[in-house]
Amino acid sequence: MPISRAAALALLVAACGSTHAPQPRGPVPSGPAGGSAIVWDYEVTVDAALDLDVRATFTGPMAGTLRVDEAAARFLERVELQVGDGWRSVGLAEHAWRDACSGSCTFRYHFRLGAAAKNVADADVAIASDGAIFAPPSTWLMRPSEGSQGRYRFHVAPAAGVRFATGIRPAGAALTFEAPTSSFEEAAFAAFGALRTGHLADPAIDYALAPRLALTDEVAVDWLRTEVSAITAYFGHAPDGHAMLFVGTNTSADTGGKTLGGGGASLFVRIGTKVSAANLRDDWVVAHELVHVAFPDLDRRYTWFSEGLATYVEPIARARAGLIAPEKVWVEMIEGLPQGLGGARDGGLDGARDWGRVYWGGALYFLLADVRIRERTHGAHGLEDALRAIVAKDGNVEAMWPLARVLEIGDGATGTAVMRELHDELGRANGAVDLDALFRRLGVRADHGVATFDDRAPLAAVRDAILPRRVTK
Ligand SMILES: [Zn+2]
Repeated sequence: MPISRAAALALLVAACGSTHAPQPRGPVPSGPAGGSAIVWDYEVTVDAALDLDVRATFTGPMAGTLRVDEAAARFLERVELQVGDGWRSVGLAEHAWRDACSGSCTFRYHFRLGAAAKNVADADVAIASDGAIFAPPSTWLMRPSEGSQGRYRFHVAPAAGVRFATGIRPAGAALTFEAPTSSFEEAAFAAFGALRTGHLADPAIDYALAPRLALTDEVAVDWLRTEVSAITAYFGHAPDGHAMLFVGTNTSADTGGKTLGGGGASLFVRIGTKVSAANLRDDWVVAHELVHVAFPDLDRRYTWFSEGLATYVEPIARARAGLIAPEKVWVEMIEGLPQGLGGARDGGLDGARDWGRVYWGGALYFLLADVRIRERTHGAHGLEDALRAIVAKDGNVEAMWPLARVLEIGDGATGTAVMRELHDELGRANGAVDLDALFRRLGVRADHGVATFDDRAPLAAVRDAILPRRVTK
């Protein structure tokens, strides 16, 4: 029996949550160097064992120490600073290197990526997948810990037979990529190894597949295309226009997904061991992550908003696309949403950490918003109109938005104040919600996992507008 979404979402907290906890970003680049200057420039040579030799040139005012992500530091070796015609060994924590840098300095170092993937085995840092290694540049590109506002650029030169792919935007020349340094800590995924890469035009997807997946490439790519199409249809816009999808294998039964948006949108899907071509349609993780790709990043305090959006939109988008039965979506909402209600000691959803509140409490916000927008506008608008307006303003995972802007643009599109009002009720406060009354008004109930509908219910038309019962496809 397939694991229920309610139970699976509990697992997803570990699978997905950390990617939507943005670190504070640096201020907008400014000053004499200008925001567009390349201040960190890298030449990365990849050997056949997927270890890296890197030459890095830093320009402009910089301070602090040299660093890579903490979990990766022990795999960084032989760091040397160019001094005249020679090289001098440098410790990462040492400050003295700055004295030798007058405006610009060049380092070289070795990074044991293979060992990092094997020992850290974390999708956020580095992880191996049978002939390929996935690791974002923040793992293997050394940088000064302070200063250096502008852009970074790297060129990758792989050994014969090794391929490289990243979600960071290309910079023109082959295998050269570029992004703002302020986006570095959340830099998009990258992969090395025996990858199969490709591009689909409509919807636009770039993909990189690891070797020896449980699915054929054809099935895997068709699956990605189907999920992207469902989310694109809901938002009226492809997630980020050019998302890079990485697919590897997972060691656990369930599929895991992570989204990183620094410098370009990327989604890393790790296919669970129980997944086969026959049961791919039960796998909703890709669509969930694509909702994150499509929507702006928010402060960590509003994780419930991001996760609630993905929890609510994913099944509706997939049902509208004919991938799952609408009846099943209603049953899962009726059974799942009570887990999102606040207890007597809870505050509002803002700042909530509990998975039930974050995922289902957030989903409840969006269901209520969808219903209320349709009621107030007499069916002229729904939640998707608000979300489409946000996405149309280049709101996607590459951008961090204040929540107020999301609410303002969303409400502006429907000519209501529903999103702001509901944030006051459920985000700032722990407002009471009578779910039984809501589903009675919508005319839908779940009996032993089976949905029954009452078409005489006052909001039956709203219910069917959210999710048409018969999808002709
Ligand atoms: Zn998520």
